[in-house]
Amino acid sequence: ERDDWNPSLKLYLAAPRGFCAGVDRAIKIVEMAIEKWGAPVYVRHEIVHNRYVVDGLREKGAVFVETLDEAPDDRPVIFSAHGVPKSVPAAARAREMVYVDATCPLVSKVHIEAERHHENGLQIVMIGHSGHPETEGTMGQLPEGEVILVEETADVERIAVRDPDRLAFVTQTTLSVDDTVDIVAALKARFPGIVGPHKEDICYATTNRQEAVKAIAPHVEALLVVGAPNSSNSKRLVEVGRKAGCSYAQLVQRADDIDWRALDGIRSVGVTAGASAPDILIEEVVNAFHDRYSVTVETVETARETVEFKVPRVLRVPA
Ligand code: SF4
Repeated sequence: ERDDWNPSLKLYLAAPRGFCAGVDRAIKIVEMAIEKWGAPVYVRHEIVHNRYVVDGLREKGAVFVETLDEAPDDRPVIFSAHGVPKSVPAAARAREMVYVDATCPLVSKVHIEAERHHENGLQIVMIGHSGHPETEGTMGQLPEGEVILVEETADVERIAVRDPDRLAFVTQTTLSVDDTVDIVAALKARFPGIVGPHKEDICYATTNRQEAVKAIAPHVEALLVVGAPNSSNSKRLVEVGRKAGCSYAQLVQRADDIDWRALDGIRSVGVTAGASAPDILIEEVVNAFHDRYSVTVETVETARETVEFKVPRVLRVPA
């Protein structure tokens, strides 16, 4: 078969891309909970921010709800990978519900950090995105007023703190590494005594996916990020791509979303995927290029990931 009348295209695949260890674990938790307890198993919030993943689990017997109130007392409930305010497991316990917390261990680590600072009498500044469930979960580890949200550098000047000498900061795990460096610098400039993590709390998966995008963005005329519009780390990959010099960078949920008119005439494209985008959707996007072009694929690997997280013990023992 000849396909050489198709225009040629170089496709750079970023590596790492797609699923991280926390997402992988969260999906396994839902699957194993359905196996253990049977359907339905309730899940508070999208287990990970991907419609394809959510629809697949729904078919297996997961019921997605936004608040715990929507779940009955007598069925197991799972909390999403993004984490939950302390009030949520407390309410589940009060109702004597069976619950499994699928909060990513790297998010839990930030929760513990925030709590430790609080015990030391520090007020906390959280760098994160307002309304994102991870931000709500982390802020909800502590009483109202103990965590102040900062979204961008300009916010640093605006915030009112209890005592500028008794402050700590934590961050969302899926932020832009470069933007966060600037925000942390602004915090340290205004509050020289502020304590925090060595750099920030951005996780390995976020950092690695942004690095890989930076490596390919200068070589491509277009960058497609497979991911959902409510996925923080996916949106950051689009921004990182643009900043790294790729003027056309777009989020696509799957192949259907590709704007072929906008890509007309290109000779090179980069493909990556957010931490909640499954391989099958990345393959679908790559295959859509194979259908239209004579494609040469080059994988650009900037890191190797070996992180794996165990599922909670309750799911590793028989019912
Ligand atoms: Fe955990 Fe990072 Fe994945 Fe979020 S993106 S689930 S923090 S590994």
